[in-house]
Amino acid sequence: MLTCNSVSTISLRLKLAAVGLVLALLWPQVADAQVSLATFAVDITIPVGHRCMGILPTKVRQIDDPLQAVGLVLLGPDEPVVVVALDWCEVRNAAYDLWRDELAKVASTTRQRVLVCSLHQHDAPVTDNRAQELLDEVGLPGELFDVDFQAACIADTAAALKAAIAQAQPVTHVGIGQGQVEKVASNRRVEYADGSVRFDRQSRSGADSLLAKLDAGEIDPWLKSISFFNGEQELAVLSCYATHPMSSYGQGAVSADFIGQARRRRQVDTPGTLQVYLTGCSGDVTAGKYNDGSLAARGLLADRLYQTMIVAAEQTVRYEVDGWTFRCAELTLPFHDGAEFTREAMSKVLRDPQAKMDQRILAAMGLSSLERVERGQPIDVPCLDLGVAQLVVLPGEAFVGYQLMAQRLRPKSFVMVSGYGECWTGYIPTQSAMVDGFDHGWRWVGPECEPLVEEALKQVLEVTK
Ligand SMILES: [Zn+2]
Repeated sequence: MLTCNSVSTISLRLKLAAVGLVLALLWPQVADAQVSLATFAVDITIPVGHRCMGILPTKVRQIDDPLQAVGLVLLGPDEPVVVVALDWCEVRNAAYDLWRDELAKVASTTRQRVLVCSLHQHDAPVTDNRAQELLDEVGLPGELFDVDFQAACIADTAAALKAAIAQAQPVTHVGIGQGQVEKVASNRRVEYADGSVRFDRQSRSGADSLLAKLDAGEIDPWLKSISFFNGEQELAVLSCYATHPMSSYGQGAVSADFIGQARRRRQVDTPGTLQVYLTGCSGDVTAGKYNDGSLAARGLLADRLYQTMIVAAEQTVRYEVDGWTFRCAELTLPFHDGAEFTREAMSKVLRDPQAKMDQRILAAMGLSSLERVERGQPIDVPCLDLGVAQLVVLPGEAFVGYQLMAQRLRPKSFVMVSGYGECWTGYIPTQSAMVDGFDHGWRWVGPECEPLVEEALKQVLEVTK
Protein backbone atom coordinates (compact mmCIF):
# COMPACT_ATOMS: atom_id res chain seq x y z
CA MET A 1 0.00 0.00 0.00
CA LEU A 2 2.83 2.34 0.86
CA THR A 3 5.76 2.55 -1.45
CA CYS A 4 8.57 5.01 -1.60
CA ASN A 5 8.66 6.86 -4.86
CA SER A 6 12.08 8.31 -4.80
CA VAL A 7 14.93 9.22 -2.53
CA SER A 8 17.63 11.59 -3.53
CA THR A 9 20.29 13.53 -1.75
CA ILE A 10 21.71 16.76 -3.01
CA SER A 11 25.08 17.99 -1.89
CA LEU A 12 25.17 21.70 -1.32
CA ARG A 13 27.76 24.20 -2.30
CA LEU A 14 29.51 24.17 1.06
CA LYS A 15 29.91 20.44 1.04
CA LEU A 16 31.32 20.58 -2.44
CA ALA A 17 33.67 23.39 -1.49
CA ALA A 18 35.19 21.11 1.15
CA VAL A 19 36.08 18.61 -1.53
CA GLY A 20 38.86 20.95 -2.60
CA LEU A 21 40.10 23.08 -5.40
CA VAL A 22 41.68 20.26 -7.36
CA LEU A 23 38.46 18.35 -7.64
CA ALA A 24 36.65 21.58 -8.43
CA LEU A 25 38.97 22.22 -11.32
CA LEU A 26 38.50 18.69 -12.58
CA TRP A 27 34.76 18.93 -12.17
CA PRO A 28 33.53 22.01 -13.97
CA GLN A 29 29.86 21.35 -13.14
CA VAL A 30 30.56 22.26 -9.49
CA ALA A 31 29.08 25.69 -10.16
CA ASP A 32 25.87 23.98 -11.30
CA ALA A 33 25.72 21.97 -8.08
CA GLN A 34 25.15 25.08 -5.99
CA VAL A 35 21.85 25.09 -4.21
CA SER A 36 19.74 28.13 -4.71
CA LEU A 37 16.27 29.40 -3.99
CA ALA A 38 13.74 31.56 -5.77
CA THR A 39 10.48 33.03 -4.47
CA PHE A 40 7.22 34.13 -6.02
CA ALA A 41 3.84 35.57 -5.05
CA VAL A 42 0.75 35.81 -7.26
CA ASP A 43 -2.77 37.17 -6.84
CA ILE A 44 -5.39 34.39 -6.93
CA THR A 45 -8.41 36.31 -5.62
CA ILE A 46 -11.71 34.82 -6.73
CA PRO A 47 -14.06 37.22 -8.51
CA VAL A 48 -17.39 38.60 -7.34
CA GLY A 49 -20.09 35.97 -7.83
CA HIS A 50 -17.81 32.99 -7.16
CA ARG A 51 -18.77 30.26 -4.68
CA CYS A 52 -16.93 30.16 -1.33
CA MET A 53 -15.96 27.01 0.59
CA GLY A 54 -17.53 24.87 -2.10
CA ILE A 55 -21.04 25.00 -0.70
CA LEU A 56 -21.71 28.29 1.12
CA PRO A 57 -25.01 29.81 -0.03
CA THR A 58 -23.71 33.39 -0.18
CA LYS A 59 -21.40 33.89 -3.13
CA VAL A 60 -18.67 36.56 -3.29
CA ARG A 61 -20.08 40.07 -2.84
CA GLN A 62 -16.90 41.95 -2.04
CA ILE A 63 -13.15 41.56 -1.70
CA ASP A 64 -12.00 42.54 1.79
CA ASP A 65 -8.41 41.58 1.06
CA PRO A 66 -6.75 39.58 -1.71
CA LEU A 67 -5.94 35.87 -1.87
CA GLN A 68 -2.41 34.93 -2.89
CA ALA A 69 -0.29 32.01 -4.01
CA VAL A 70 3.02 32.43 -2.18
CA GLY A 71 5.90 30.05 -2.68
CA LEU A 72 9.50 29.10 -3.20
CA VAL A 73 11.55 26.66 -5.19
CA LEU A 74 14.76 24.99 -4.07
CA LEU A 75 17.16 24.31 -6.94
CA GLY A 76 20.27 22.17 -7.04
CA PRO A 77 21.94 19.37 -8.92
CA ASP A 78 18.93 17.12 -8.32
CA GLU A 79 15.28 17.68 -9.15
CA PRO A 80 13.86 20.91 -7.69
CA VAL A 81 11.34 21.06 -4.85
CA VAL A 82 8.55 23.64 -4.96
CA VAL A 83 6.48 24.73 -1.96
CA VAL A 84 3.41 26.85 -2.67
CA ALA A 85 0.82 28.07 -0.19
CA LEU A 86 -2.61 29.01 -1.56
CA ASP A 87 -5.06 31.30 0.25
CA TRP A 88 -7.76 28.90 -0.91
CA CYS A 89 -10.00 26.61 1.10
CA GLU A 90 -9.23 23.27 -0.57
CA VAL A 91 -7.80 21.87 -3.82
CA ARG A 92 -8.87 18.32 -4.66
CA ASN A 93 -8.23 15.43 -7.05
CA ALA A 94 -7.69 16.56 -10.68
CA ALA A 95 -7.38 20.19 -9.55
CA TYR A 96 -4.59 19.24 -7.16
CA ASP A 97 -2.77 17.30 -9.86
CA LEU A 98 -3.22 20.16 -12.33
CA TRP A 99 -1.58 22.65 -9.97
CA ARG A 100 1.30 20.26 -9.30
CA ASP A 101 1.81 19.19 -12.92
CA GLU A 102 1.85 22.72 -14.35
CA LEU A 103 4.30 23.98 -11.72
CA ALA A 104 6.42 20.82 -12.09
CA LYS A 105 6.72 21.49 -15.81
CA VAL A 106 8.22 24.96 -15.44
CA ALA A 107 10.43 23.90 -12.51
CA SER A 108 11.66 20.80 -14.41
CA THR A 109 10.67 18.49 -11.61
CA THR A 110 8.11 15.83 -10.78
CA ARG A 111 4.54 16.18 -9.54
CA GLN A 112 5.47 14.69 -6.16
CA ARG A 113 8.07 17.39 -5.56
CA VAL A 114 5.55 20.21 -5.88
CA LEU A 115 4.14 20.69 -2.39
CA VAL A 116 0.81 22.49 -2.85
CA CYS A 117 -0.73 23.53 0.47
CA SER A 118 -4.10 25.20 0.84
CA LEU A 119 -4.41 27.46 3.88
CA HIS A 120 -8.14 26.70 4.26
CA GLN A 121 -9.69 30.14 4.57
CA HIS A 122 -13.45 29.70 4.28
CA ASP A 123 -14.34 32.75 2.18
CA ALA A 124 -12.18 31.20 -0.52
CA PRO A 125 -12.73 28.50 -3.14
CA VAL A 126 -12.80 24.71 -3.10
CA THR A 127 -11.70 23.30 -6.46
CA ASP A 128 -12.07 19.83 -7.99
CA ASN A 129 -12.21 19.61 -11.78
CA ARG A 130 -13.96 16.24 -11.95
CA ALA A 131 -16.60 17.35 -9.43
CA GLN A 132 -17.30 20.44 -11.54
CA GLU A 133 -17.53 18.25 -14.67
CA LEU A 134 -20.20 16.17 -12.93
CA LEU A 135 -22.05 19.34 -12.00
CA ASP A 136 -21.78 20.57 -15.61
CA GLU A 137 -23.47 17.34 -16.73
CA VAL A 138 -26.54 18.14 -14.62
CA GLY A 139 -26.71 21.76 -15.72
CA LEU A 140 -24.84 23.38 -12.84
CA PRO A 141 -21.82 25.03 -14.53
CA GLY A 142 -19.55 27.02 -12.27
CA GLU A 143 -21.49 26.13 -9.13
CA LEU A 144 -18.48 24.63 -7.34
CA PHE A 145 -15.80 26.80 -8.94
CA ASP A 146 -14.81 28.65 -12.09
CA VAL A 147 -12.61 26.22 -14.06
CA ASP A 148 -11.21 28.89 -16.39
CA PHE A 149 -10.38 31.14 -13.46
CA GLN A 150 -8.40 28.38 -11.77
CA ALA A 151 -6.58 27.65 -15.05
CA ALA A 152 -5.59 31.33 -15.26
CA CYS A 153 -4.37 31.28 -11.63
CA ILE A 154 -2.25 28.21 -12.35
CA ALA A 155 -0.83 29.80 -15.51
CA ASP A 156 -0.01 33.03 -13.63
CA THR A 157 1.68 31.09 -10.83
CA ALA A 158 3.65 28.97 -13.29
CA ALA A 159 4.78 32.14 -15.10
CA ALA A 160 5.84 33.72 -11.81
CA LEU A 161 7.72 30.56 -10.85
CA LYS A 162 9.50 30.53 -14.21
CA ALA A 163 10.50 34.18 -13.88
CA ALA A 164 11.63 33.60 -10.29
CA ILE A 165 13.92 30.73 -11.25
CA ALA A 166 15.91 33.11 -13.44
CA GLN A 167 16.51 35.24 -10.33
CA ALA A 168 17.45 32.41 -7.93
CA GLN A 169 19.93 33.18 -5.17
CA PRO A 170 22.38 30.85 -3.42
CA VAL A 171 21.37 29.25 -0.11
CA THR A 172 24.12 28.87 2.51
CA HIS A 173 22.14 28.27 5.72
CA VAL A 174 18.83 26.92 6.94
CA GLY A 175 17.33 28.42 10.09
CA ILE A 176 14.87 26.89 12.52
CA GLY A 177 12.91 28.78 15.16
CA GLN A 178 9.66 28.58 17.03
CA GLY A 179 7.41 30.56 19.32
CA GLN A 180 4.46 29.63 21.48
CA VAL A 181 1.18 31.12 20.23
CA GLU A 182 -1.09 32.43 22.97
CA LYS A 183 -4.88 32.39 22.79
CA VAL A 184 -5.46 31.44 19.17
CA ALA A 185 -6.03 27.68 18.92
CA SER A 186 -8.53 25.44 20.68
CA ASN A 187 -9.84 21.97 19.99
CA ARG A 188 -13.38 21.30 18.82
CA ARG A 189 -13.56 18.56 21.47
CA VAL A 190 -14.77 19.76 24.85
CA GLU A 191 -15.18 17.88 28.11
CA TYR A 192 -18.15 18.98 30.16
CA ALA A 193 -18.40 18.98 33.95
CA ASP A 194 -20.63 15.90 33.88
CA GLY A 195 -17.85 13.99 32.13
CA SER A 196 -19.48 13.95 28.70
CA VAL A 197 -17.36 14.66 25.64
CA ARG A 198 -18.61 16.36 22.47
CA PHE A 199 -17.15 18.13 19.44
CA ASP A 200 -19.22 21.22 20.16
CA ARG A 201 -16.72 24.01 19.78
CA GLN A 202 -17.02 25.77 16.42
CA SER A 203 -14.83 28.46 14.91
CA ARG A 204 -16.60 31.34 16.65
CA SER A 205 -17.72 29.78 19.90
CA GLY A 206 -16.01 32.52 21.91
CA ALA A 207 -19.38 34.22 22.12
CA ASP A 208 -20.61 31.22 24.16
CA SER A 209 -19.37 31.76 27.71
CA LEU A 210 -19.18 28.06 28.55
CA LEU A 211 -17.33 27.06 25.37
CA ALA A 212 -15.02 30.05 25.86
CA LYS A 213 -14.28 28.92 29.42
CA LEU A 214 -13.72 25.22 28.88
CA ASP A 215 -10.18 23.96 28.42
CA ALA A 216 -8.52 24.54 25.02
CA GLY A 217 -7.95 20.78 24.67
CA GLU A 218 -5.38 19.18 22.39
CA ILE A 219 -3.48 21.70 20.27
CA ASP A 220 0.11 22.22 19.14
CA PRO A 221 1.03 25.55 20.76
CA TRP A 222 4.16 26.08 18.66
CA LEU A 223 4.43 28.19 15.53
CA LYS A 224 7.42 26.73 13.71
CA SER A 225 9.58 28.52 11.17
CA ILE A 226 12.10 27.20 8.67
CA SER A 227 14.13 29.91 6.98
CA PHE A 228 16.63 30.04 4.15
CA PHE A 229 19.67 32.31 4.11
CA ASN A 230 22.26 33.51 1.63
CA GLY A 231 24.96 34.49 4.10
CA GLU A 232 23.34 37.08 6.36
CA GLN A 233 20.48 37.74 3.97
CA GLU A 234 17.30 35.87 4.85
CA LEU A 235 15.62 34.93 1.57
CA ALA A 236 12.40 33.23 2.71
CA VAL A 237 10.62 31.90 5.77
CA LEU A 238 8.11 29.07 5.99
CA SER A 239 5.94 29.54 9.08
CA CYS A 240 3.42 26.93 10.14
CA TYR A 241 0.75 26.83 12.85
CA ALA A 242 -2.14 24.46 13.39
CA THR A 243 -5.49 26.18 13.52
CA HIS A 244 -8.46 26.71 11.25
CA PRO A 245 -7.76 30.18 9.92
CA MET A 246 -11.21 31.75 9.94
CA SER A 247 -12.47 34.38 12.33
CA SER A 248 -15.75 34.95 10.51
CA TYR A 249 -17.07 33.82 7.16
CA GLY A 250 -20.13 33.14 5.08
CA GLN A 251 -21.11 36.70 4.18
CA GLY A 252 -19.47 36.69 0.75
CA ALA A 253 -16.55 38.88 1.86
CA VAL A 254 -13.34 37.34 0.47
CA SER A 255 -10.40 37.46 2.84
CA ALA A 256 -7.16 35.67 3.61
CA ASP A 257 -8.38 36.15 7.20
CA PHE A 258 -6.23 36.51 10.29
CA ILE A 259 -3.40 34.32 9.02
CA GLY A 260 -3.20 36.43 5.85
CA GLN A 261 -3.19 39.63 7.91
CA ALA A 262 -0.37 38.30 10.08
CA ARG A 263 1.66 37.20 7.06
CA ARG A 264 1.26 40.53 5.27
CA ARG A 265 2.19 42.54 8.34
CA ARG A 266 5.31 40.44 8.75
CA GLN A 267 6.04 40.83 5.03
CA VAL A 268 6.07 44.62 5.45
CA ASP A 269 8.68 44.17 8.22
CA THR A 270 10.92 42.04 5.97
CA PRO A 271 10.78 43.36 2.39
CA GLY A 272 13.76 41.24 1.28
CA THR A 273 12.41 38.04 2.79
CA LEU A 274 9.37 36.25 1.42
CA GLN A 275 6.97 35.24 4.18
CA VAL A 276 5.20 31.96 3.45
CA TYR A 277 2.58 30.74 5.91
CA LEU A 278 1.33 27.15 6.06
CA THR A 279 -1.68 25.85 7.98
CA GLY A 280 -0.81 22.85 10.12
CA CYS A 281 -3.03 19.84 10.77
CA SER A 282 -6.10 21.65 11.98
CA GLY A 283 -9.12 19.44 11.32
CA ASP A 284 -10.15 19.58 14.97
CA VAL A 285 -8.54 22.92 15.85
CA THR A 286 -10.15 26.34 15.47
CA ALA A 287 -9.87 29.75 17.12
CA GLY A 288 -13.30 29.05 18.67
CA LYS A 289 -12.41 29.52 22.33
CA TYR A 290 -11.03 33.00 21.64
CA ASN A 291 -13.09 34.16 18.68
CA ASP A 292 -16.59 35.63 18.67
CA GLY A 293 -16.58 36.21 14.91
CA SER A 294 -16.14 39.99 15.08
CA LEU A 295 -13.70 41.97 12.95
CA ALA A 296 -12.02 43.03 16.18
CA ALA A 297 -11.38 39.38 17.00
CA ARG A 298 -9.87 38.90 13.54
CA GLY A 299 -7.40 41.70 14.28
CA LEU A 300 -6.53 40.29 17.70
CA LEU A 301 -5.91 36.80 16.36
CA ALA A 302 -3.77 38.23 13.55
CA ASP A 303 -1.73 40.22 16.05
CA ARG A 304 -1.09 37.19 18.28
CA LEU A 305 0.11 35.16 15.30
CA TYR A 306 2.21 38.06 13.99
CA GLN A 307 3.88 38.59 17.38
CA THR A 308 4.77 34.91 17.49
CA MET A 309 6.28 35.08 13.99
CA ILE A 310 8.64 37.72 15.41
CA VAL A 311 9.47 35.49 18.39
CA ALA A 312 10.20 32.57 16.06
CA ALA A 313 12.51 34.83 14.01
CA GLU A 314 14.31 35.98 17.17
CA GLN A 315 14.72 32.37 18.29
CA THR A 316 16.02 31.21 14.92
CA VAL A 317 19.24 29.22 14.93
CA ARG A 318 21.12 28.91 11.64
CA TYR A 319 22.83 25.81 10.33
CA GLU A 320 25.05 25.43 7.32
CA VAL A 321 23.16 23.40 4.80
CA ASP A 322 24.91 20.27 3.68
CA GLY A 323 22.17 18.61 1.72
CA TRP A 324 18.53 17.81 1.48
CA THR A 325 16.67 14.63 0.96
CA PHE A 326 13.27 14.19 -0.60
CA ARG A 327 10.96 11.31 0.19
CA CYS A 328 7.36 10.62 -0.71
CA ALA A 329 4.98 7.97 0.60
CA GLU A 330 1.90 6.77 -1.21
CA LEU A 331 -1.04 6.76 1.15
CA THR A 332 -4.27 4.96 0.32
CA LEU A 333 -7.16 5.88 2.59
CA PRO A 334 -10.51 4.09 2.53
CA PHE A 335 -13.61 5.85 1.21
CA HIS A 336 -16.46 6.61 3.64
CA ASP A 337 -18.46 3.45 4.28
CA GLY A 338 -21.78 5.19 5.05
CA ALA A 339 -24.93 4.42 3.05
CA GLU A 340 -25.17 8.01 1.79
CA PHE A 341 -21.66 7.76 0.32
CA THR A 342 -22.36 4.97 -2.16
CA ARG A 343 -22.19 5.76 -5.88
CA GLU A 344 -25.95 5.18 -6.17
CA ALA A 345 -26.84 7.46 -3.26
CA MET A 346 -24.56 10.30 -4.37
CA SER A 347 -25.61 10.03 -8.03
CA LYS A 348 -29.25 10.25 -6.98
CA VAL A 349 -28.67 13.46 -5.03
CA LEU A 350 -26.53 14.97 -7.80
CA ARG A 351 -29.28 14.36 -10.37
CA ASP A 352 -32.18 15.46 -8.20
CA PRO A 353 -33.25 19.00 -9.17
CA GLN A 354 -35.28 19.16 -5.95
CA ALA A 355 -32.23 18.49 -3.78
CA LYS A 356 -30.53 21.45 -2.10
CA MET A 357 -27.64 22.99 -4.02
CA ASP A 358 -25.09 22.31 -1.28
CA GLN A 359 -26.11 18.65 -1.19
CA ARG A 360 -25.76 18.32 -4.97
CA ILE A 361 -22.30 19.91 -4.85
CA LEU A 362 -21.24 17.66 -1.98
CA ALA A 363 -22.48 14.65 -3.97
CA ALA A 364 -20.37 15.71 -6.98
CA MET A 365 -17.33 16.13 -4.75
CA GLY A 366 -17.97 12.72 -3.22
CA LEU A 367 -18.35 11.03 -6.61
CA SER A 368 -15.13 12.58 -7.86
CA SER A 369 -13.28 11.22 -4.84
CA LEU A 370 -14.94 7.81 -5.06
CA GLU A 371 -13.78 7.54 -8.70
CA ARG A 372 -10.26 8.38 -7.58
CA VAL A 373 -10.28 5.76 -4.84
CA GLU A 374 -11.75 3.15 -7.22
CA ARG A 375 -9.04 3.74 -9.81
CA GLY A 376 -6.45 3.30 -7.06
CA GLN A 377 -4.78 6.71 -7.12
CA PRO A 378 -2.98 7.11 -3.81
CA ILE A 379 -2.34 10.36 -1.95
CA ASP A 380 1.25 11.60 -2.12
CA VAL A 381 2.72 12.42 1.29
CA PRO A 382 5.92 14.35 0.53
CA CYS A 383 8.75 15.16 2.91
CA LEU A 384 11.46 17.74 2.29
CA ASP A 385 14.26 16.76 4.68
CA LEU A 386 16.75 19.55 5.30
CA GLY A 387 18.75 17.55 7.82
CA VAL A 388 17.99 19.71 10.87
CA ALA A 389 14.34 20.02 9.88
CA GLN A 390 11.68 18.15 7.95
CA LEU A 391 8.63 19.56 6.17
CA VAL A 392 5.86 17.00 5.70
CA VAL A 393 2.56 17.71 3.93
CA LEU A 394 -0.44 15.66 5.07
CA PRO A 395 -3.73 15.54 3.21
CA GLY A 396 -7.00 17.31 3.93
CA GLU A 397 -8.26 18.15 7.35
CA ALA A 398 -5.91 15.84 9.24
CA PHE A 399 -6.47 16.25 12.97
CA VAL A 400 -3.74 17.87 15.06
CA GLY A 401 -3.02 14.48 16.63
CA TYR A 402 -1.26 13.52 13.39
CA GLN A 403 1.03 16.55 13.56
CA LEU A 404 1.88 15.70 17.17
CA MET A 405 2.40 12.07 16.12
CA ALA A 406 4.90 13.16 13.43
CA GLN A 407 6.83 15.15 16.01
CA ARG A 408 6.83 12.23 18.45
CA LEU A 409 8.20 9.96 15.73
CA ARG A 410 11.28 12.22 15.39
CA PRO A 411 11.57 13.75 18.90
CA LYS A 412 15.09 15.09 18.36
CA SER A 413 14.34 16.78 15.07
CA PHE A 414 12.39 19.86 14.02
CA VAL A 415 9.33 18.46 12.28
CA MET A 416 6.99 20.90 10.54
CA VAL A 417 3.74 19.40 9.29
CA SER A 418 1.42 21.21 6.92
CA GLY A 419 -2.12 19.99 6.51
CA TYR A 420 -4.38 20.59 3.50
CA GLY A 421 -2.26 19.01 0.76
CA GLU A 422 -4.53 16.79 -1.36
CA CYS A 423 -7.90 17.70 0.15
CA TRP A 424 -10.40 15.10 -1.13
CA THR A 425 -10.47 13.41 2.25
CA GLY A 426 -12.12 16.23 4.17
CA TYR A 427 -11.70 15.51 7.89
CA ILE A 428 -9.21 12.79 8.82
CA PRO A 429 -10.01 12.05 12.45
CA THR A 430 -7.68 10.20 14.76
CA GLN A 431 -8.83 6.90 16.21
CA SER A 432 -9.57 8.50 19.58
CA ALA A 433 -11.75 11.17 17.93
CA MET A 434 -13.76 8.42 16.21
CA VAL A 435 -14.14 6.63 19.56
CA ASP A 436 -15.30 9.93 21.07
CA GLY A 437 -18.02 10.12 18.44
CA PHE A 438 -16.68 12.70 15.97
CA ASP A 439 -18.79 12.85 12.83
CA HIS A 440 -19.35 15.49 10.20
CA GLY A 441 -20.63 15.72 6.64
CA TRP A 442 -17.23 17.07 5.54
CA ARG A 443 -15.59 13.65 5.97
CA TRP A 444 -15.17 11.39 2.94
CA VAL A 445 -12.75 8.84 4.44
CA GLY A 446 -13.57 5.70 6.38
CA PRO A 447 -13.00 5.42 10.11
CA GLU A 448 -9.74 3.45 10.04
CA CYS A 449 -7.20 6.04 8.86
CA GLU A 450 -4.83 6.36 11.80
CA PRO A 451 -2.60 3.30 11.25
CA LEU A 452 -2.31 4.16 7.55
CA VAL A 453 -1.29 7.76 8.17
CA GLU A 454 1.12 6.61 10.88
CA GLU A 455 2.76 4.21 8.43
CA ALA A 456 3.16 6.98 5.84
CA LEU A 457 4.69 9.28 8.46
CA LYS A 458 7.12 6.60 9.59
CA GLN A 459 8.16 6.08 6.01
CA VAL A 460 8.80 9.70 5.09
CA LEU A 461 10.38 10.50 8.45
CA GLU A 462 12.56 7.38 8.16
CA VAL A 463 11.47 5.87 11.44
CA THR A 464 12.69 2.29 11.33
CA LYS A 465 10.66 0.67 14.10
ZN1 LIG B 1 -12.18 22.95 7.81
